[in-house]
Amino acid sequence: MEVAIIGAGVSGLSCAFRLNQLGIKPTLFERRPIIGDVINLYGIHLNCFNLFSDNPLTFFRKNYNLIIKPMCPIKKLTMYSANKKVSVKGKLGYVFNRGPGMTSLERQLLNQIDAYIYMDTYIMESLIDEISKQFDAVVIATGCTNIPKHLGVLKEVSIMQVRSGLIDGHYETGQVFSWMKTEYSNNSFIYLIPASENRAVITLIADNITPAELDYMWKQMLISDNIINNIIETWDHEYHGGRLNIGQVGNIYFVGNAGGLTDDFMGFGIVNGIASGIFAADAIVKGTNYQNSIETMLKRLDQIHNLKLLANRVEKNTWKYMTRIIGLPGIRNIIYKASFLKFHHIGDFMGKFIKQ
Ligand SMILES: Cc1cc2nc3c(=O)[nH]c(=O)nc-3n(C[C@H](O)[C@H](O)[C@H](O)COP(=O)(O)OP(=O)(O)OC[C@H]3O[C@@H](n4cnc5c(N)ncnc54)[C@H](O)[C@@H]3O)c2cc1C
Repeated sequence: MEVAIIGAGVSGLSCAFRLNQLGIKPTLFERRPIIGDVINLYGIHLNCFNLFSDNPLTFFRKNYNLIIKPMCPIKKLTMYSANKKVSVKGKLGYVFNRGPGMTSLERQLLNQIDAYIYMDTYIMESLIDEISKQFDAVVIATGCTNIPKHLGVLKEVSIMQVRSGLIDGHYETGQVFSWMKTEYSNNSFIYLIPASENRAVITLIADNITPAELDYMWKQMLISDNIINNIIETWDHEYHGGRLNIGQVGNIYFVGNAGGLTDDFMGFGIVNGIASGIFAADAIVKGTNYQNSIETMLKRLDQIHNLKLLANRVEKNTWKYMTRIIGLPGIRNIIYKASFLKFHHIGDFMGKFIKQ
């Protein structure tokens, strides 16, 4: 069986890994000259948004023998909303290295696969029809929505403006900070991930804003948090996501962000990217139903979307009270540490009110 994977990022490499296990050596096409982003970044996974009742890394290891080593566990999360700060401690999730470094998530996946890889090879959307005739299956793992759009399966589009900055200061690895509904981060989400004791990456993400508005929010953030002189460098991304009508068209499968599997609230998609790559490989080789496999993820994404709508609609003070309620010791422990109540459940509950 001949399988083509377009894009050697998180989901494409995970798909290749699973295809190998099922006896297939796929062909990967990657537009960049290297695997991973050209810059070193850090991604987080928070268990309170977990799709799996189990820890996802344990889930991937136990079920697929896929070994992923995070940079470190997240031991403390501090959330700020207008004049309110809530801290949670425990086994809260993981920080991953991203990018070209040898320990990055992409490099770890690359080291575990066997594939024909064509680097520096950009596949135009107009070539997909032809490729789908030449291969038994094609996996779209491009991290963007131009191919689903070309094939007419893109339902909704979300365009997120993202700015990340490398800053210096004094930090503790494993301690992550987030800001929502502060004076400057009205409908945006901000998080800070320490990379070492003296370096951190701060990321501001918001959708439905212009690059000029992003710039304004960023400057307000720097002034309010007094980090204006600590910036070493910044990077901007315009992140195109969206929901699809369907995850598969004939022998073409959409995974990761190209499959609409990144949430539009915080922009998290690492775990869904890995899982969807694996599920697509199973569908191609074992004949499982790909749409059914990703259904739970899609449901969770809808629920998280409701949380975003709620965050956008409520006033800062209401959000502050909600943060206070979430921060109450009993409730906080259930959400962050138990497996039966997660943020998407709250989104599900809230969604019933939002839609009215
Ligand atoms: C700044 C930033 C911070 C983020 N932080 C987090 C986080 O903290 N936690 C989290 O869970 N998620 C985070 N995300 C989202 C996460 O990175 C994505 O959800 C995840 O990478 C999706 O994996 P993917 O395989 O779909 O896409 P990617 O990992 O982006 O891989 C796509 C690959 O396809 C290649 N490609 C694209 N088009 C073509 C083409 N036409 N032909 C050939 N190759 C092509 C690209 O070069 C790339 O290598 C963040 C995203 C950004 C931009």
